[in-house]
Amino acid sequence: MKLKLDLHPIFKDGAQIEAALSSIIDEAIEKRATEVEIIPGKGSGALKKTVLRFLDRPDVKARYHRIEKDSDNFGRLFVHFRHERMASAPSASPSRARQIVPVACVCCQASLRIPYDELPAEIVVECASCGSPNRVVVTLGRSGLPQARADWGYDAVDAGSQSIPEL
Ligand SMILES: [Zn+2]
Repeated sequence: MKLKLDLHPIFKDGAQIEAALSSIIDEAIEKRATEVEIIPGKGSGALKKTVLRFLDRPDVKARYHRIEKDSDNFGRLFVHFRHERMASAPSASPSRARQIVPVACVCCQASLRIPYDELPAEIVVECASCGSPNRVVVTLGRSGLPQARADWGYDAVDAGSQSIPEL
């Protein structure tokens, strides 16, 4: 992904230029862009110097990989990014720990612990107290917490034998 920052509209305001540069660097890091193209505008040598001075600040320099200057006369600058540190950082999703949600047995009301990997989930468990199969559906509730609902699980257990007609 590449981002572009055109400095034409704000070329007179030094503080605004720094703010714009700072925010595009934030955005590049956040979105993991590989390159930001900065367009100071043709013939605006002073502006380009302002940009280079900003990019040369140690705190700013630490945030990107390298600068590349355009060879043509448009004065564009390309700021390249590397995101190795972020790439190797542990990410939240791939190996999430298995979650447990409690639910009352549909038969004897004993507390069942339902393990699930991701939502929504449907798990058939046998109650340890009464032996009844429970079909438990776990969904994400409005509060952002998982909600489990238990129902009879006989049809899941007897899958294939359609002997009991539902009322
Ligand atoms: Zn039970």
